[in-house]
Amino acid sequence: MSEQREFQAEVSRLLDIVANALYTEKEIFLRELISNASDACDRLRYDAIAKPELIKGDTEFKIRVWFDTDARTLTISDNGIGMNREELIKNLGTIAHSGTRELVKQLNGDKQKNSNLIGQFGVGFYSVFMVASKVEVLSRKAGDDKGWIWISDGHGSYTIDESLKDERGTVITMHLKDEAYEFLIEERLKNVIKKYSDHINFPIVIGEAKDAPAVNTASAIWMRPKGDITPEQYKEFYRGVSGTIQMDEPWMTLHWHAEGNFEYHNLLFIPAMKPFDLYDPRRPNSAKLYVKRVFITEGVDGLLPPFLRFVKGVVDSEDLPLNISREMLQSNPLVAKMSTAITRKILGELEEKAKSDIKDFENFWALFGPVVKEGLYDAHQYRDQLTRVARFYSSKAEGLTSLEEYVSRMKEGQEQIYYLSAGSVEAARHSPQLEAFNAKDIEVLFMTDTIDEFWIPMQNDYKQKKFKSITRGSADLSKIKSDKKEEPRDEKAKAGMAGFLSQMKEILKDEVKDVTLSERLVGSPVCLVAPESDMDIHMQRVLKKNQHYDGKHQHILEVNEKHPVIQRLKTLSENAANAETLRETALLLLDQARIVEGEPLKDPAGFVKRLNHAIEKGLLSS
Ligand code: ADP
Ligand code: MG
Repeated sequence: MSEQREFQAEVSRLLDIVANALYTEKEIFLRELISNASDACDRLRYDAIAKPELIKGDTEFKIRVWFDTDARTLTISDNGIGMNREELIKNLGTIAHSGTRELVKQLNGDKQKNSNLIGQFGVGFYSVFMVASKVEVLSRKAGDDKGWIWISDGHGSYTIDESLKDERGTVITMHLKDEAYEFLIEERLKNVIKKYSDHINFPIVIGEAKDAPAVNTASAIWMRPKGDITPEQYKEFYRGVSGTIQMDEPWMTLHWHAEGNFEYHNLLFIPAMKPFDLYDPRRPNSAKLYVKRVFITEGVDGLLPPFLRFVKGVVDSEDLPLNISREMLQSNPLVAKMSTAITRKILGELEEKAKSDIKDFENFWALFGPVVKEGLYDAHQYRDQLTRVARFYSSKAEGLTSLEEYVSRMKEGQEQIYYLSAGSVEAARHSPQLEAFNAKDIEVLFMTDTIDEFWIPMQNDYKQKKFKSITRGSADLSKIKSDKKEEPRDEKAKAGMAGFLSQMKEILKDEVKDVTLSERLVGSPVCLVAPESDMDIHMQRVLKKNQHYDGKHQHILEVNEKHPVIQRLKTLSENAANAETLRETALLLLDQARIVEGEPLKDPAGFVKRLNHAIEKGLLSS
């Protein structure tokens, strides 16, 4: 009995977009189907290690492609693991991955944007509807005695029915659309297979003849010497393992063979684009693990640390037992050792790259720097290497700088690594708290990623130099020698401010913890800082945004006694008749400091009123 079923809403949506030919390169459907066929063979080969009877009588895995010019059909078959009824329904009728489902929800009428989004996650099987008006999937799961046929025209629903199938595996028949007849030409098929699927580990043959030669090289690309592999071949393999449709190229290709205590082959890539699931809370890594050319599994926890989860590709071990269960991998000491060796090697390459080509490194760091820095927070064993890889923007360096370079530029008498937390490099550059540091030519690192707020307290220091936030606690720079000429501070004037400060404090007592004289301001009248024992203001905001925290913290308002506004205000404050002006100006100054800090104003309307009042007065007197 044939049963008709609806596609999951997101699938229908995706199919509409796919059918309207998003990609100029329709031919990639063949790559997707071949990659699925190859996965199916991989999975059965793995299962057959424990249950050899699954492949009894048919141990040669193969992918076949053939066509019928009269019927205008193209067919691709494999003798892999196959699918039963439930699997056909789940795999071809729904989108299993919740992250992908979320992305599909974002798709809208904007073709270009859709294509960018889809490029990031790939449409896999559904890409057949770019070329086919109707698709039949006939499948029989290895070990089962029944076959099933799934049929759909890609519009809203599909049917599923029991069907005869003599052998295990899957046969997909596509009724081609008029504009896709080019895939009925053998040469065209050959070229497409060569182009996208040469690296597939199983022979791909065209035609039904038993002895047809394979079109692809059908050998594990990572086993071949580097010199034999063209950049084109690396690129196609990368696209295969990274699951992206978009034409991005790997930013870095890491191909090596390790021998010694244990032996493995590696072909890993760092993408040039941000994967859409980079911030998936599970932080899964996506490297594939093989044992002696047999695919075992992907995304093994512990094969790569979470801070390298953007690395794609293959690790092929010569030493792990083939029959290792996937569950045991995580706790396997050999996997842990390989992981350490691979991680060290990758970090080493990154370190080299940062030294040899910082411009190019900047591209990488913009995408993945925040992820790599997670390691500074939670991967203690790589601390030294990670601090050598990490790069920062600063108040003085042109581009990115390293901690080592920063320390080498520290001034005589400077004992701490100064940093400023801010939402962006631009915001950091304009922070009033930076003024005294700029005036004394003391460099300050800019920390603009959320993760910075976490790893800095964790690391505490670098080469015995403590990290010190310049928006928290005091800022006594007097011990640091400066090449610039300094104006000595007028201690008498400072002492004379005491009365003014306590008046300000009285006015603002519900808003700030204290009002003090500033050591860090030069051109601005006021700024906000956090008490030494408290969190940075920026950190408080980050935590609030992520809803990890809703505590109440009071800031300290610092005033610059050399600034004309403050000087004038102090003079006014000496006459009780000016109490209202003092109050209004104090509130205005506080709000000004909040704005610069990126803090929300408690009473924006009140602020605007005060500001207009001040402008009015200014205009009237000019
Ligand atoms: P992906 O390959 O990224 O999982 P696809 O859309 O390409 O996504 O395929 C969806 C799922 O359908 C696969 O994960 C697999 O479980 C199943 N599938 C597709 N083609 C085959 C096949 N030839 N043999 C067995 N299973 C298949
Ligand atoms: Mg696929």
